Amino acid sequence: MHRIQVLSEKVANLIAAGEVVERPASVVKELLENSLDAGAGEIEVEAKNSGLSLLRVTDNGEGMGPEDARLALARHATSKLSAAEDLNHISTFGFRGEALPSIASVSRLELMTRPRDAAGGFFLKLEGGRVQEARETGCAPGTSITVRDLFFNTPARRKFLKSPATEQSHLIQAVESLALAFPGVRVLLTLDDREILNCPAAPSLRERVAAVYGRSLPQDLQAISWEGGGVWVKGLAAGPAAARPTRQGMQIYVNGRRVEHRGIAHALLEAYRSFLPPERYPVCFVFLTVPTPLVDVNVHPAKREVRFKDEHAIHDLVVSALRAAIGETDLSGARRLRAASGTETAASAQTNLNYPPAAPAWSGARVREAVSSYLSNRSGAEATETPGPGPGAAAEAFETEAAPEGDRIIGQVGRTYIAGQDGEGFFLLDQHALHERLLYEEIRRSPASIPRQALLLPLTFELPPAQSVLLEELRGEYARLGLEIEPFGKNTFVIRTQPHFWRGGDLPALVRETLDLGGETGRPPAAEALKDRVHKLLACHAAVKAGDRLQPEILQALVQGLRSLAKPWTCPHGRPFIFRLSWRELDRLFKRG
Ligand code: ADP
Ligand code: MG
Repeated sequence: MHRIQVLSEKVANLIAAGEVVERPASVVKELLENSLDAGAGEIEVEAKNSGLSLLRVTDNGEGMGPEDARLALARHATSKLSAAEDLNHISTFGFRGEALPSIASVSRLELMTRPRDAAGGFFLKLEGGRVQEARETGCAPGTSITVRDLFFNTPARRKFLKSPATEQSHLIQAVESLALAFPGVRVLLTLDDREILNCPAAPSLRERVAAVYGRSLPQDLQAISWEGGGVWVKGLAAGPAAARPTRQGMQIYVNGRRVEHRGIAHALLEAYRSFLPPERYPVCFVFLTVPTPLVDVNVHPAKREVRFKDEHAIHDLVVSALRAAIGETDLSGARRLRAASGTETAASAQTNLNYPPAAPAWSGARVREAVSSYLSNRSGAEATETPGPGPGAAAEAFETEAAPEGDRIIGQVGRTYIAGQDGEGFFLLDQHALHERLLYEEIRRSPASIPRQALLLPLTFELPPAQSVLLEELRGEYARLGLEIEPFGKNTFVIRTQPHFWRGGDLPALVRETLDLGGETGRPPAAEALKDRVHKLLACHAAVKAGDRLQPEILQALVQGLRSLAKPWTCPHGRPFIFRLSWRELDRLFKRG
């Protein structure tokens, strides 16, 4: 029989470290939160080798005396909580007294600290949680904690880490989140001696957002400011034009802490619902200030989640706050666009405002070129399998004689749909979705890499720091997709070539959108996913749009192309592009059968 034993402190610390210290980014998060709890106005973060060799957080906060410094490294020692009932109103980031001892137990840690009014400072050095050195020292007021060789004594942990680029991007995101939550605090970040973030103390969130993201952020950010029942919702919300293919742009903070919260995420989508097409997610920074009795922050080891006393009330409050804010965004541009394209209806004014994305209208010649290039590129084998109309069909296409069998195109409807009939009955096709699918198939089957075309004027663009790191890792993939991209200074890049299918449009937006595929994980997107996304975007941009007036021969080419496609007939995003009524259905409809 085994007997129950109380774990030694060393083992207990390693177990706690497993929960709190997942990766370098979690160390940075804990250290930053301690600096904020200590009232710092300035925080500097330094990392080497994705934070594995070295992580240093230096602040100008209240510091600690020698006694406290030793205690800080003991388990469950905290200055922030003393009785269980204090757990009901936590206003500091920390309260468990777990972070420092946990970090110390899996690294070589040095702590240097000095209270503002003390004459000198104190230095402590630990290895695997054991104190190696303790002495007085001269240093600036505040605290500096250096964590070296993270997980040196827990090789299993090291194995769970992702690629250096992934770990780096998590680390950057941890610092970014904090910088956004505290615009008034000066935040600096260097990675391997490269300056990644340099945010001076800012008077407002708007200025802080600009310092973090630079020019890579949308311009039309609307202020959110809403209150209900003592709960404040503040922040910034971008208009529908800035929507992204993942949820990464939806940032939620509760009492200064970046959290994941399904209810609030749902509320954001709900608020944007009528403005965004399916599978597009808004960009918004939402900060909730919730009185401490109404929120429980003690539900997750790394405090990434919170729970509200009244989840429904918070949900509805966030919906109202966001609706009020985005009601202010400029939707008129998108509306004008659809009105001009002749497809504006009461319903479409509310939905699909930005889908398909606004792009210069196509001239008839270019449409023809695109469609005929599609048709001529198809192999002979495929063409003979096609049960489509034979030669001369184009000329017959506009004859009015009704023939229940054989293909015939009736014409364009609302400059958006193609009406026709074939052996099976009557059909309506969505011209954009169909063309998009045809181009997608063509691009997808093209050789390993997409031919490039040099840009006369190379395009420079900026990326958020975390995305810059990913892009550097993925440059080879983009080159294969026809986009040669080179680094051009801090978080800035230059695009030198475009894929030859590209018909004009925002290339940096294409890059941003595809980098987003890594999603919330901060992981670089898989090469296959990246490739497929770029293919779809190229097809979408190059395809005829709803609202384009199309010549009969183009309608014909599109319908002919349809026959070469495998069923089910949907666009690359999975939306159906064909509506059918069989002859029997038509007869039944008119009570003939
Ligand atoms: P917690 O933050 O949950 O209290 P930690 O292990 O993170 O637990 O820190 C333990 C204690 O060490 C804190 O309560 C605080 O008193 C002190 N401390 C940690 N970091 C700093 C810092 N940067 N400046 C001043 N005091 C600090
Ligand atoms: Mg802490």
